[in-house]
Amino acid sequence: MSKLTSPNYVCVHAGDLKDTTFGGATAPIYTSTTYDYRGEGTNLYPRYFNTPNQVALAQKMAALEQTEAALIFGSGMAAISAVFMAFLKQGDHIILQRAIYGGTAHFAAAEFDRTGISYTMIEHVDEESLQTALKENTRMIYIETPSNPLLEVVDIEVVSAFAKANSLKTAIDNTFASPINQNPANYGIDIIIHSATKYLGGHSDICAGTVSASQVDIDRLWKTAKNYGGSLSDVTVHLLERSIKTLGLRVKQQSETAHKLAVALELNQDVESVNYPGLESHAQHEIAKKQMRYYGGMMSFVLSSKIDDDQFLNHLKVIKPALSLAGVESTILSPRLTSHSLLPAKERREQGIDDRLLRFSTGIEELEVLLEDIMQALENSRK
Ligand SMILES: *Cc1c(COP(=O)(O)O)cnc(C)c1O
Repeated sequence: MSKLTSPNYVCVHAGDLKDTTFGGATAPIYTSTTYDYRGEGTNLYPRYFNTPNQVALAQKMAALEQTEAALIFGSGMAAISAVFMAFLKQGDHIILQRAIYGGTAHFAAAEFDRTGISYTMIEHVDEESLQTALKENTRMIYIETPSNPLLEVVDIEVVSAFAKANSLKTAIDNTFASPINQNPANYGIDIIIHSATKYLGGHSDICAGTVSASQVDIDRLWKTAKNYGGSLSDVTVHLLERSIKTLGLRVKQQSETAHKLAVALELNQDVESVNYPGLESHAQHEIAKKQMRYYGGMMSFVLSSKIDDDQFLNHLKVIKPALSLAGVESTILSPRLTSHSLLPAKERREQGIDDRLLRFSTGIEELEVLLEDIMQALENSRK
């Protein structure tokens, strides 16, 4: 059985840490912060990312992203910042997609100038925009697809081909797709990052991050990451490993429900537009079709002007208005009120984020339950 066609097998069995003492079905948890060491061999220490549970989960993340190696971090931002600081130095330039996670954009604005790293943000990532942004000191391209909150899809192959032609490192934030829907390493991307707080954790109760890459790149990353000290505690590593066992089941269900929901919403008179990569109407549907397995659990939509958005959120009974995403429970947010509230209205509009846009994260509830909740909330929020 190939890994590609057996994601659930990989989720359950890859990086198995065997209980050789009692033969238990699940991995033992090793919480020691110090291990037998007499000056030879490897000194195991949680901050060195090398305790038994960390190493086993890293093997699972490497298998899931089809790379040679991985590291597990204390948050998505710990993973992202370690990648930047490991592969960039003073005088280097990086090209970033504009539509990246807010925390990543904040990191660039707050830390790059201070450390002598320059950056260019590009609106739509394609060969032309990359060529325009390219400088003699460019070292890395950083993308995120599908993007938040508009679900824009970047052609991963175009990015990696351009990077290879110009000897640049490539990194992707693969959080929205999850390893179930998209494996960027197969399209030539070097470094694959996840906020494991989202689909990998999946139950809205873990904060973690992962980086999957070649052994050489992971060795380079490790040298910097151990100085910043952002490893994940072994108890949380255990929770994350437990969650990932059902990742394939959850993401398949969430993606299938999201697809049907997106189709239903697009046909609804009270909905003005729907952004979902699986829809034929999506501007990059053909690219999504090429590089994604399912189209994911995330979507965004704009309600018609006959609906009062704030009332709509107030009337939802099952779907929770909440900031984070990718849990087993469906959540919704208004970027204007939350994730993008610090941006001036004009800048939000320039980025294509309508003030009435709502971002929806599909949980594992039945489609009928979600549709019924949305329909009653629409009925109760007509102006
Ligand atoms: C949440 C998120 C992050 C940051 O992850 P944390 O675990 O909160 O540090 C990065 N990228 C994307 C796409 C996210 O959704």
